[in-house]
Amino acid sequence: MLKPLSGIDEGLETNLRSFFQQDHAEYEILFAVREAHDPAVGIVAALQKEFPSRAARLIFTGEPPYANAKVFSLDRMLAEARYDLLVVENLKIANMVRRAKPVPDPDAPGSYLPNGGRAKSGLNRSISDASWGGFLGILRAKAEDAGRVWIEVDPRHTSDGCENCGHAARENRVAQAEFVCQRCSHRAQADEHAARNVLRAGLALHTLAA
Ligand SMILES: [Zn+2]
Repeated sequence: MLKPLSGIDEGLETNLRSFFQQDHAEYEILFAVREAHDPAVGIVAALQKEFPSRAARLIFTGEPPYANAKVFSLDRMLAEARYDLLVVENLKIANMVRRAKPVPDPDAPGSYLPNGGRAKSGLNRSISDASWGGFLGILRAKAEDAGRVWIEVDPRHTSDGCENCGHAARENRVAQAEFVCQRCSHRAQADEHAARNVLRAGLALHTLAA
């Protein structure tokens, strides 16, 4: 399981803990950050301490030589991974593509200062289309050339399916933070449950392929 990290966002600890709590017998967890100062390092270290029997490693990638740090970080993990089945969460392109914020012109209410928005949108477009798909295609091809299986699991489709009975329905998400299956009444913290589903989906594909 490969997980690029950068900073701490909401629910990160819960999300990462689920990597350590899979039922699967034998697997390795690889995390990567750009540099040792990254705030995510502390969370990973604490979890490694909490789950000493899990094979988990944290890689420091250094500065990426090309524009996409997340892709570079996956590339580094790909080189280090011990097993041939690689599970990654589907990368959310929307999260990585930021819009230039309009800056109001203080001298002319209702109008905006030029702030490079147009140039930035152009760059964003190239990340989200051509080069992004290209990068991931290269990683996948690299993995497959080496006889490995590269699996991307889309977290969006794992948030409303019950891990206990498989029942998938929007109504299962009774609240932002709470999952309650409307068929079997299974209850779980929503983020934790979704993260377990992501990884299980990847591992299940492996079992099918084996
Ligand atoms: Zn259920």
